Parts: sequence; structure tokens; C-alpha cells
Amino acid sequence: MSQTTAVPAGTDPRPRVVVRGDDAVVAGVRCTECGHPVAFVRPRCPACRGPVEPAEFGPAGTAWSSTVVRIPVPGREPPYALAYLDLDDGPRVLAHLPGDRAVPVGTRLRLTAPDEAGDLTAEEA
Ligand SMILES: [Zn+2]
Repeated sequence: MSQTTAVPAGTDPRPRVVVRGDDAVVAGVRCTECGHPVAFVRPRCPACRGPVEPAEFGPAGTAWSSTVVRIPVPGREPPYALAYLDLDDGPRVLAHLPGDRAVPVGTRLRLTAPDEAGDLTAEEA
């Protein structure tokens, strides 16, 4: 079954990050039926359509994949590194890494405060 999620115009599609001191966590929801974690606030679970409750995820996680981007995009000077990280007991999120070096799969990472562009960021734990 395929599902599409419409993002209303003018809505920031990135996960909402809450910063407390040195810790940054993603504010999303978790399904109360199946436990599925979601990095975004949604009214129902995207996996089983069950009810959800607010949940915070992170700051720690493990790199699922990482790469270096070498093509220019508006507002970003290449090269720069990105990683998908699986937050501990939480969802998979995309985050910028410092510098221009990808990390090996399985590297322990922690979320840091979003950058000036508002993007998620992470560093090696
Ligand atoms: Zn569910």
C-alpha cells in the first residue's frame, strides 16, 4: 500500500528540533498501538493508522548511511557531509555533519542544535 503525505504550502517539512543545553531532540509522535516512531507530528500512525502521543527522540543515534554532497545547491557551499541516523528507539532522520567527511555506517552520532539554515545537524558522539 502506498501512502502520500501532503505538506501544506508554507509549512517547514523538516522535523522540529528542541534544544536543551547541549542536547537536541526531535519532537515527534509515537504510536500507542504499534510503537512506531514518527519524526513529525501526525494525527495518526502512518504504519497502522492507530492513535499517537507526543514523543521526543534523540539526541543519540547510529549512522544508517552517510555521503558527501559535491554539487552546489542554493545556500550550501559544497562539499558538505550528510548522514541518515537512526535515533535510539526513534525514527530515521537526515542531518548535516560538520566538515566534508562522511562517516562509516554504524558510527555513533548525536544531534546538535540546528544550523543557521534550520537544518538538523549531528556530530560524532
Ligand atoms: Zn502504529
